[in-house]
Amino acid sequence: MGNYTRDQWLLFFAQIIAHLSIIPMIMYGSWYHWVIAIAVYFVTGCFGMTMTYHRLLSHYSWKAPKWFHYFGTLAGTYGLTGSSIGWVAIHKEHHRHTDMEGDPHAPGIKGFIKVQWLSMFYTPKPRYVIKLIRDSFHTFLHKYYFLIHLGIAVTWYAIDPMLMVAAYLFPAMILWNAGSFINTLTHTIGYRNHDTKDGSTNIPLLGFLMWGEGWHNNHHKNPGSADFQHKWWEFDVGHQFIKLISVKEK
Ligand SMILES: [Zn+2]
Ligand SMILES: [Zn+2]
Repeated sequence: MGNYTRDQWLLFFAQIIAHLSIIPMIMYGSWYHWVIAIAVYFVTGCFGMTMTYHRLLSHYSWKAPKWFHYFGTLAGTYGLTGSSIGWVAIHKEHHRHTDMEGDPHAPGIKGFIKVQWLSMFYTPKPRYVIKLIRDSFHTFLHKYYFLIHLGIAVTWYAIDPMLMVAAYLFPAMILWNAGSFINTLTHTIGYRNHDTKDGSTNIPLLGFLMWGEGWHNNHHKNPGSADFQHKWWEFDVGHQFIKLISVKEK
């Protein structure tokens, strides 16, 4: 974890560039560029962020086949929201100190700024990721995170600069913002199924658009469960895929 702070600055600059990609995407994006961007957002958000970074690596709420452990982690890595080690450490700290001092997330407008831009400079604590730190696959991806991303950017640029925008930068910007909305709004507005000690809520629009992540009050009620759906209409896309491929669920 030694050079994590330096890497956080790189994540900041990478996401600034990703946010600027909205300009070429709107000006020059063809219909197929938009299809590619949505597909990449699905792979990085559903397979990467919610199924792997969140439900598998943060909560161990399901047991994935080995190939998916690797594939999902690589999808999450590609999504430009930080390494698995960094993401999981921050998320576990959120569960440890939810809506209290020490929570890297926060509700409201101030919370959005904190999550959207300041969380990039948050230094995660190794004690939350002991298992991942012992895994050379995760430590490799953490250590070389920005070299890997430099490689991805250069490769796409060499193939086609518009593909770099549509298949990489633009979906990374969408995923980053979707994650920020989840980490802010689902502790700000929405409805609650469960009277948890924290202020977590469910937001249907985010539930559907973020592959189940918007059912956040359900998740805080039972963080160890891979299933975020507590009512018949609270459709959880991530859990549907987990049911298809899991070896075992908690
Ligand atoms: Zn939360
Ligand atoms: Zn969680």
